Amino acid sequence: MSENSVGNLIDQLGRLPGIGRKSAERLAFHLLRVSQGEALALADAIRQVRVNVRYCTDCHNLSEDSLCNVCTDPSRDAQRLCIVEQPRDLMAIEQSGAYRGLYHVLMGRIAPLDGVGPDDLTIDRLVDRVRRGNFAEIIMATNPTVEGDGTALYITNQLAEFPVTVTRLARGITSGSVLEHANREILADAMMGRQKL
Ligand SMILES: [Zn+2]
Repeated sequence: MSENSVGNLIDQLGRLPGIGRKSAERLAFHLLRVSQGEALALADAIRQVRVNVRYCTDCHNLSEDSLCNVCTDPSRDAQRLCIVEQPRDLMAIEQSGAYRGLYHVLMGRIAPLDGVGPDDLTIDRLVDRVRRGNFAEIIMATNPTVEGDGTALYITNQLAEFPVTVTRLARGITSGSVLEHANREILADAMMGRQKL
């Protein structure tokens, strides 16, 4: 491997979130030390995920087919719909094991200061789903931040005309903390203790 290849790898790794120059160097030299098979398995995993994974056409969860594993699972409670900001929040709730309904991934939150408005999210599709679907409960599981709360409020207003109960995760999650980092027990408690909005 030429010096240029190493430099290029360090540059690429250094663009990843949370990876500074020093970490990028450490990772690059690690990849040079391990077996070729192990290093290439990482390269393959990146290629596979970008070639095969897309967003579910119904809920925007990550999926390798047009509909995701949750949407196609007949054992899920199709009367409950949990609204999350990102696919990784969905994963965190799935890992808590406290929820067996369906999801809707917003692909972000309303953040006027970052120039993100309602039209940049999947809110229109959500309203369509609620109009078409037979949901009894919509669970707001946006993050307990100013923007997450604002997004939940906006969506609640959009859904006001439908005969559904809107609930919000209980505040077991510390205000301002991020859903994906909450541990399983806290997340399960927040789901169990959800309250009507
Ligand atoms: Zn889906």
